[in-house]
Amino acid sequence: MLAEIQQALHDKALAFRKANTQDAKTYEDLKKAVEIGFAFSHWCGGADCEAKIKDETRATMRCIPLEQSGGPGTCVYCGKAAAERAIFARAY
Ligand SMILES: [Zn+2]
Repeated sequence: MLAEIQQALHDKALAFRKANTQDAKTYEDLKKAVEIGFAFSHWCGGADCEAKIKDETRATMRCIPLEQSGGPGTCVYCGKAAAERAIFARAY
């Protein structure tokens, strides 16, 4: 019973995040995505990029999902090679 409730809550949270998360391939996309929800973007791992994104968009990095789709790409901010994608969102 408890496990079912937890599973339902987890599914709901996941569905919510999926519905509100946009693949943001460019910095412009990221800016638009964080206006309404989450941005899922490649990030080089640099603290500088994270700080600049936060300064300019008020969005902070939330997590690096274990499920990485799409493979490596380029950092949404600096354009350097990025192995992972992270989720960015504004604090409410
Ligand atoms: Zn970067």
